[in-house]
Amino acid sequence: MIISPRIRQNICINAHPVGCAAQVKAQINYVRKRGKIEGPKKVLVIGASNGYGLAARIVSAFASDAATIGLAFEKPGSAQRTATAGWYNSEAFRREAQAAGLPAWNVNGDAFSEETKSEVMTVIKDQLGKLDFLVYSIAAPRRIDPVTGEIYSSVIKPIGQPFTAKTVDFLTGVVSEVTAEPATGEQIAHTVKVMGGEDWLMWVDRLLAENLLAHGFQTVAFSYIGSEQTRPLYRDGTIGAAKKDLEQKAQDINTMLAAVDGRALVSVNKALVTRASAVIPAVPLYIALLYRVMKAKNLHEGCIHQIHRLYRDFLFGQDVLQLDAGGRVRLDDWEMRPDVQSEVRKLWQQVDQETIGEFADIKGLREEFLRHHGFGMPGVDYAQDVAPDLL
Ligand code: NAD
Repeated sequence: MIISPRIRQNICINAHPVGCAAQVKAQINYVRKRGKIEGPKKVLVIGASNGYGLAARIVSAFASDAATIGLAFEKPGSAQRTATAGWYNSEAFRREAQAAGLPAWNVNGDAFSEETKSEVMTVIKDQLGKLDFLVYSIAAPRRIDPVTGEIYSSVIKPIGQPFTAKTVDFLTGVVSEVTAEPATGEQIAHTVKVMGGEDWLMWVDRLLAENLLAHGFQTVAFSYIGSEQTRPLYRDGTIGAAKKDLEQKAQDINTMLAAVDGRALVSVNKALVTRASAVIPAVPLYIALLYRVMKAKNLHEGCIHQIHRLYRDFLFGQDVLQLDAGGRVRLDDWEMRPDVQSEVRKLWQQVDQETIGEFADIKGLREEFLRHHGFGMPGVDYAQDVAPDLL
């Protein structure tokens, strides 16, 4: 099969196996060039197949020589259909880790379910004994409550009043205005159920109950705050409510972890194009302006750069952990620099259909989005016939 991108409503519905493998390899090469970090050795990454979670697995293994278990919820390919990008990424990671002599196990399943939790507990018991580090990096549209069976769906909506803002379709470059209607009370509660901290806490609770956490165990989950342009929709909206819940749960998990002298942290990360963030209204325009400003200042980072900096400069490379007043790691420190934010604000006010190409890094966004699905990777021959279930 000749595989080229198939995109529906800003969602890429296929992926390229060789391109995904090349993209994983490029991240590994970045980490290898930067030397070793004295980090954890037995690591579980939940949401390990894409974006921040994949980067965390790569840094754990290739900078700190960790044995990793990667949990993700992906679809394999068949003779007629490609697998999801995350499936190819996880398989590519496993091959690279094996070639480097680094133990790696992939688990594919729904992290919210008790069955998947049991499966992962067995792998930990059989292969690792105890865990040093857990990265919780899920971006999910829905969750089935393991106790009641009820299905919860997350929405990205403002709270209290409608939100109207400029946005851009980063695939066509068309600038328009969008209005998002406010969420109902039920939608807010459901989004918190899916994207809040409850499942993270359930994982730690289960790991503790099964005595699978090493002394000094640490865990991290990722949050986002962002700028005033996206605030009504993001931080003050439904997803923000979920992130505030995640940050609150970090405190509860910390209390639980006193038993093993452990620690739970939230890292507030930078806005990036991933499969998850590409579908949020207004956010692509903000990201395109931000990329343009940060690239001009030589401050631009992708997932792998962010996570490498998280390990080296915050979690494992320093004697004193720098936290903000809310007890969070601020990996968004460069995004939130006053000079960066004031330039983005100025561009946001001025940008229109005529100036979008000049003011915003639409091309960079598009390329990064496609790379997440294995397209546009240098050195990959996209004219070549490949079997979608090959890897
Ligand atoms: P992503 O879409 O790139 O990856 C999500 C991962 O979650 C994938 O590995 C997927 O397989 C896994 N997953 C989804 N549902 C699952 C389920 N039910 N069971 C098991 N695995 C499941 O997402 P991302 O952008 O890297 O986001 C990861 C985290 O980082 C999220 O909490 C997100 O809010 C946060 N974050 C993202 C950004 C950003 O700009 N992308 C910024 C700050 C924080």
